[in-house]
Amino acid sequence: MSKPIQAVRGMNDMLPEAAPLWEFFENTVRDWLRSYGYQQIRTPIVEPTDLFVRSIGEVTDIVEKEMYTFVDHLNGENLALRPEGTASCVRAVVQHNLLYNSPQRLWYMGPMFRHERPQKGRYRQFHQVGVESLGFAGPDMDVEHIVMTARLWKLLGLQDVVLEINTLGSIEARHRYRARLIHHFEQSAGLLDEDAGRRLHSNPLRILDSKNPAMQAMIEAAPRLMDDLDEVSLKHFEELQDMLGAAGVSYRINSRLVRGLDYYNATVFEWVTTHLGAQGTVCAGGRFDGLVEQIGGKPAPACGFAMGVERLLALMQEQGFQPPPAGPDAYIVHVGELADKMALTLAEQLRASGLNTVLHCGGGSFKSQMKKADAIGARYAVIIGDDEAQADQASVKPLRSAGEQTRVGLSELVDGLRG
Ligand code: ATP
Ligand code: MG
Repeated sequence: MSKPIQAVRGMNDMLPEAAPLWEFFENTVRDWLRSYGYQQIRTPIVEPTDLFVRSIGEVTDIVEKEMYTFVDHLNGENLALRPEGTASCVRAVVQHNLLYNSPQRLWYMGPMFRHERPQKGRYRQFHQVGVESLGFAGPDMDVEHIVMTARLWKLLGLQDVVLEINTLGSIEARHRYRARLIHHFEQSAGLLDEDAGRRLHSNPLRILDSKNPAMQAMIEAAPRLMDDLDEVSLKHFEELQDMLGAAGVSYRINSRLVRGLDYYNATVFEWVTTHLGAQGTVCAGGRFDGLVEQIGGKPAPACGFAMGVERLLALMQEQGFQPPPAGPDAYIVHVGELADKMALTLAEQLRASGLNTVLHCGGGSFKSQMKKADAIGARYAVIIGDDEAQADQASVKPLRSAGEQTRVGLSELVDGLRG
């Protein structure tokens, strides 16, 4: 025997037993997005590396150490597995000129790739659902995103997901803030860890995001962007809070929320739970008004968010969510030459009537076939022996509820199974 091959570390199979949960999630998400008027966009999983370097930023965790990049040896192109969806989405919008005459409400769902240390809630291939609204400048769109996510938590039956918001201000305000931050951290440069020391002059805002306990006091004492915010961003942030209040959404202002990607400005937000250990952020987003222009389009304001599917599913399971049963309506049990033929056409008739039907394959006794019907969770066994076949009838036995086995004509069968 040859040695079995294992999946790449940190990249998971979704096994059939998990499918009902994933499918419930995906179906709920599709309906939810449709109810807000969002349209789906799909972009390639591989993009030019430069797209992510330019948008996410050179001095960020993702670009410095998490991105899967490679050279296509057939033509020498530098390519990357996408680590997130926003850059690709904006690239596609610019490339196809989608903002030509109207703003866009878009969404995507799919795998993302980051070379991180695999642990609960942190994988090397994981899945995101992302939403991007392009061409909308006002806080009404930030609020739409927050309100719609709050609604999704309800649809998924989730509790204890808490909203944190912050503003990163304008580019200029952030520039001023940078200088103040560098000055602050330089005062106690000896306390900075390696990452922070390296980022002190390239990306000091990221130091605020550090989870290193030894730096917490210093971070706590850092100046706050909010105290020197530009007027436009301040107004945007105040209006946002007003509207959140009017919509009845509670939130906490977290002035240390800076997000790990360079393209954000003004509003940033995260939905956080305490139920998933250290990997508690299930959804994160904000405004990226400069990104469309940065990727080569005409300037257009934009905002969006992405949620981590694995983390949301883990939270649903943690909170006792049971996906709806996934078994078929009918499992056709058949023994005998005439019965086998009739079963084949009957199965197709049932499916044509909208009933999910599994036709037993592989022969065997009535008893062993009935066991299969029960094991896959079918609602009814539809039993055909040569007796039934000759009479143009079938016996029907409910498997998930009490009830006797009854024999019915084929014309009554569909109605019986629907009931
Ligand atoms: P974290 O701080 O946990 O590393 P992040 O800021 O890097 O998150 P984003 O780039 O904002 O994450 O991605 C949005 C969401 O995608 C996260 O809030 C999280 O739910 C999910 N996510 C990010 N990285 C991973 C991963 N490696 N495995 C599973 N889910 C992830
Ligand atoms: Mg990360």
